[in-house]
Amino acid sequence: MADVVILGRGPAGISTALYTARAGLDTLVIGRGGGSLLKTDKIENYYGFAEPVPGKTLLENGVAQARRVGAEIVEDEVVGIAFDSRFAVSTASGLFRAPFVVLATGSSRRAPKIPGLAEFEGRGVSYCAVCDGFFYRRKNVAVLGAGDYALHEAAELLPLAAKVTVLTDGEEPRAKFPPELAVEKKKIGALFGGEKLAGVRLADGSELETAGLFVALGVAGSTDLARKLGVQTKGPAVVVDEDRRTNVPGFYAAGDCTGGLMQISKAVADGAIAGTSVVKAFRAQSAVRSAP
Ligand SMILES: Cc1cc2nc3c(=O)[nH]c(=O)nc-3n(C[C@H](O)[C@H](O)[C@H](O)COP(=O)(O)OP(=O)(O)OC[C@H]3O[C@@H](n4cnc5c(N)ncnc54)[C@H](O)[C@@H]3O)c2cc1C
Repeated sequence: MADVVILGRGPAGISTALYTARAGLDTLVIGRGGGSLLKTDKIENYYGFAEPVPGKTLLENGVAQARRVGAEIVEDEVVGIAFDSRFAVSTASGLFRAPFVVLATGSSRRAPKIPGLAEFEGRGVSYCAVCDGFFYRRKNVAVLGAGDYALHEAAELLPLAAKVTVLTDGEEPRAKFPPELAVEKKKIGALFGGEKLAGVRLADGSELETAGLFVALGVAGSTDLARKLGVQTKGPAVVVDEDRRTNVPGFYAAGDCTGGLMQISKAVADGAIAGTSVVKAFRAQSAVRSAP
């Protein structure tokens, strides 16, 4: 078990790790893909570079720097998070536990543009199986997605729902969906229903009756992960205080996922604050435990 697990290895996650690892905490960083840094090949407003620097260079240097000071960095996709005396972070390939977690997975994606999706939000459309699955017990439900995150959400629903169908919306499945799950690869046309969602109309005109549609496209975004723990969000941002603490004790957030100025300098500063806050809380907890 690590002392702290950091989700995301962009500027905010790596900056957090520099502070926790150098303070002697057993630090694990989990990240997949490059986040926003890989979308820019010329950064010229970040301190300390006389010439423009590619985002890829910053990303690679950050990872090497964190490893050098003792952080462990694993390439994996975070698909879920739960709490029972410790945080339990589920990834595509394992489970990691820690008393402290820092969310640094960048800005949340926008919802896909499927007619009816926004209208039925809260009336059949959900973004969190562990939060809302109970409302759909013994009913037919569908999960929208094609990868490991969709598989994780579908697995949460299987013990509760009458039937779970994975809708890939035209994509080839990227995860190994077990035979208990029906997989429908056709493109989605629109959602239909009245007061509540009644079903999904596919692009070829056929219909799938479903009481719930759980959106799990691509990888889990920051607000998707936050919601699973009851962390307060405001629009696409996770709500934090000045120490980067969320409303859930032991759970912190840093960088673009907290909104405000979406720039590297702010993400790095957030990471420094979150890292030092975690160190302080960890030492306070250890002091209580070792008190006579
Ligand atoms: C096109 C573009 C140009 C930009 N140009 C500039 C600029 O010139 N100057 C500037 O200061 N800023 C710029 N920015 C903004 C800057 O890149 C971001 O503010 C900064 O990268 C935010 O850092 P972060 O660590 O919060 O998030 P990110 O850098 O997005 O890092 C998030 C990390 O989390 C990982 N992750 C996400 N979800 C999961 C999951 N489920 N499982 C595992 N890992 C996950 C990602 O792979 C990534 O490693 C630009 C952004 C874009 C998109």
